[in-house]
Amino acid sequence: MRVVVYGAGQLAQMMYLAGSPLGIDVQAVDVNSDTVVHPVSKTSLDIPLEQALDEADALTVEFEHVPERLLEEAARTTKLMPNIDSILVGADRVREKKLLESMSVANCEHKIVTHLEQLDDCVSVLGNRLILKASRDGYDGYGQWRLTDPVDLPALKKALSGLDLEAVPLVVEKMVAFDRELSLIGVRNAKGEVRTYPLAENLHHQGQLHVSVAPATHVDEALQAQAHDIFVKLAEGMNYVGVLAVELFQVGDKLLVNELAPRVHNSGHWTQSGAVTSQFENHLRAVCGLPLGDTTAIGPSAMVNIIGCNSFSRELLSIDGSHLHWYGKSVREKRKMGHINVTTNSYPELGEKLMALSNFLPLEYFPKLIEEATRLKG
Ligand code: ATP
Ligand code: MG
Repeated sequence: MRVVVYGAGQLAQMMYLAGSPLGIDVQAVDVNSDTVVHPVSKTSLDIPLEQALDEADALTVEFEHVPERLLEEAARTTKLMPNIDSILVGADRVREKKLLESMSVANCEHKIVTHLEQLDDCVSVLGNRLILKASRDGYDGYGQWRLTDPVDLPALKKALSGLDLEAVPLVVEKMVAFDRELSLIGVRNAKGEVRTYPLAENLHHQGQLHVSVAPATHVDEALQAQAHDIFVKLAEGMNYVGVLAVELFQVGDKLLVNELAPRVHNSGHWTQSGAVTSQFENHLRAVCGLPLGDTTAIGPSAMVNIIGCNSFSRELLSIDGSHLHWYGKSVREKRKMGHINVTTNSYPELGEKLMALSNFLPLEYFPKLIEEATRLKG
């Protein structure tokens, strides 16, 4: 079987690695040059894109910001999974909010802004603390602005004055005082079968994911069921096939959807060694029409992102239960270079192992590590 993935980054690479044992070949499309490349070496496979699409059993994406002309071409083959509407929902916060509203899925109170004057209205309706998000092409906290005091509103308007808000509206959200950030990774196949993983707790720094812990601590059956039900409602409503990630805010015992990612997700990387079947394998199983794999967790796991840094000791592999996943990219500030997964038997042990890990890493790049290790050690 063969799957063509739009996007040639680390997610396509990890799909390739997960597909090999199943005899599923994965090819990647570099969407900047429309060339078909090997997902690991990134070298050209010397196949015209049209031929690759023709020969593939399924087409999928590793990120939602694929040029629309490519998505439309892919959709015409009827082999694109998830479907184009689901991908476009992930790429456009206005569509995303409309979908959540139409399905009555709880999300952050918000307004769509196409003219800067509407911001005054936002303050009076949503309050003084706002987060403004460009509706397209934002990720990892880019394309976002915060308002914490209305006296800063004129300055904010000035900063935004260069934007064409009619072309790319802003989604303005009330700043939610959430207890923590969680995510649910789930998978659905064309038969409508669904499996969801245990909730992961996600720690961000400057808008970027740094650490995930899964299963998240302090999750009772009701909370996991609430997340599962949100997933089922969304995946069924979108007629979704593949892995879908749902980013959530927990407020008391209630979950609000922050955003959706129509693909495998950074907060699901722990499943590579922490779950019976990884998110990458399950995504391939779903788009290839194969039975879905067990999503049970093997033990408490953590995923630690390596961001903007390429010098650390590979001796970290001396920690039992640790695995390094390196993406092979050149280093740049704030760029995701790789990640480390650690799977253990208990949360205190996970805390001990994260503490041990901190001895091998330049801590200025891992601002959340010690704090989380200390919390888990209890
Ligand atoms: P992506 O996840 O696709 O990279 P992003 O992370 O840039 O996109 P969001 O997830 O919407 O965009 O926002 C980034 C972070 O900002 C969130 O993880 C959360 O910490 C914070 N945040 C976003 N929206 C709100 C909100 N309404 N209230 C409080 N904090 C928020
Ligand atoms: Mg996010």
